Amino acid sequence: METDEPKWKVAVVKYDGTSNALRKAIQLCGGFEELKPDHKILLKPNILWGGTKKLPPFGVVTTSAVVGHLLELLRDQGCRDITIGEGAIPNKELGSSTYKGYEWSGIGKVAKRYGAKLVDFNSEPFEEVELEEVKVKISKWALESDFLINLPVLKAHRQTKVSLGMKNLKGCLAIESKKKFHKHDIAHLIALLNTKIKTSLTIIDGIYAMERGPDFLGTSYRTNLLIAGRDVFSCDIVGAEAMGIKMEEVDYLKEFSSITGRPLSLDAVEVKGENVKEIARPLKWRLSLDDIFHQAGIQGITVQHEETDLSCCSGCAVILSAFCGVFCKDNPGVALDGLEICLGGKTKAKKESKKVFLLGNCAISANKDLKDGIKIKGCPPPILDTVMSIVLKSLPKKRAAKILMSRMVKNIGIKLGVYDEAFPAFGVYKPPEFDRGHF
Ligand code: SF4
Repeated sequence: METDEPKWKVAVVKYDGTSNALRKAIQLCGGFEELKPDHKILLKPNILWGGTKKLPPFGVVTTSAVVGHLLELLRDQGCRDITIGEGAIPNKELGSSTYKGYEWSGIGKVAKRYGAKLVDFNSEPFEEVELEEVKVKISKWALESDFLINLPVLKAHRQTKVSLGMKNLKGCLAIESKKKFHKHDIAHLIALLNTKIKTSLTIIDGIYAMERGPDFLGTSYRTNLLIAGRDVFSCDIVGAEAMGIKMEEVDYLKEFSSITGRPLSLDAVEVKGENVKEIARPLKWRLSLDDIFHQAGIQGITVQHEETDLSCCSGCAVILSAFCGVFCKDNPGVALDGLEICLGGKTKAKKESKKVFLLGNCAISANKDLKDGIKIKGCPPPILDTVMSIVLKSLPKKRAAKILMSRMVKNIGIKLGVYDEAFPAFGVYKPPEFDRGHF
């Protein structure tokens, strides 16, 4: 599509293991043209999670390698007032917090090296902002910085199809506002949020890319790409193209295009560096949780696909992911009968299911009329209650008791720091292709 609009430059550069690649990307897109040494700079990586150290970070979180290179380049520009902010999924039971995320991703280490400040968007001050009729709280750090650098991961997402720069800004919201996004039209709200928070530079970290993200149920690949530009929408268009995902099927990009009147087209972007069509690595975004169970040889359990229900927020999604990991590890090959797990505020249990577990308050309220649904209460529900409830009510008594006992011992070990767990799928991430040195 030809357009008269001025084209934003987006650089696509191969990562060479040094800061030269990022320097080149920033030069190609004019990324530092408006940067001043006295600017209050905010870096917004995608950290998502901060729990179990064994969790492979590849494609899940922004690499500390890219953050470190960026801090070096900002220092070269004479910048001194640099803050890194994120609001990772907090979960006391699973030991996840933003600061744990900084530790796990290695970003805490590079921040210390370059004298950057770390903040937790989950607890820092907020400003209430109206996104049409929806009131949300946005971290003041994001609203008051002079130069916000958005650092998403090159990631396909099982709900929003992609999770790139525009979606990464959802991490600047207070927890309750994040939940609110899932109770409304999430794509529309992400688009509106990007009209309120001004991103000065977006750098998509594609050293690793993830399909069927956003968490460890997805699969990561080494892609060695950096995508950078001053316009977040243009960067996301190029990022979607780099993953072979049709931009016109990404609802939040469509919404932004419709709100702003800007064309949703690669032709409206001036791509510098690599030819994105030639280097694109097609990634899938759909994830069937039933397939995850089938891979472990588990039959007779179903979870309705999340793509049909955007009303499930990351609070319950992470509990479900943790449950899947644990249950598949503890019960390979087990045969169940007609079990269903429901989550989110819109999913209705299937009529043919024999036993339905309603995971979280949203699923309970969406299935009020279901007489014998098994309620796992909470917002989100505790993982312990989830595992206990499903194991006790789906496995023979003896086996359930054995599984729960060994799980209890493992959990004590994890809490004491003397045991950490790897899941079978993690075995695919082998060095040198998957390099922990990037985190
Ligand atoms: S019940 Fe679950 S899906 Fe609903 S708001 Fe709470 S955490 Fe999110």
